[in-house]
Amino acid sequence: MFKIYLCGKNITTWLLKYKGVDKVKVKVDQDVCIGCGLCPSIAPEVFEMRDDGKAHVISDAVPEDDEDSAKEAEGSCPVNAIITE
Ligand code: SF4
Repeated sequence: MFKIYLCGKNITTWLLKYKGVDKVKVKVDQDVCIGCGLCPSIAPEVFEMRDDGKAHVISDAVPEDDEDSAKEAEGSCPVNAIITE
């Protein structure tokens, strides 16, 4: 793991958080989603239903406050269409 220093202080963790590098990323596999609507009901800040009848992520980098609900939605999806990394 690399480290980044500014004026002798290790700012690596701060910088990664600021740039969103260490945020949980989420995707919906559009070929697998059956459009049941469960994930936006669990995590409305992360998922939304669109006109194609499928769930889409609002932003692929999940805000820290929404990580738990995104993971809950992943675990609740009946067809395992949600992937978090
Ligand atoms: S829970 Fe799964 S199947 Fe249901 S809308 Fe979300 S991604 Fe699609």
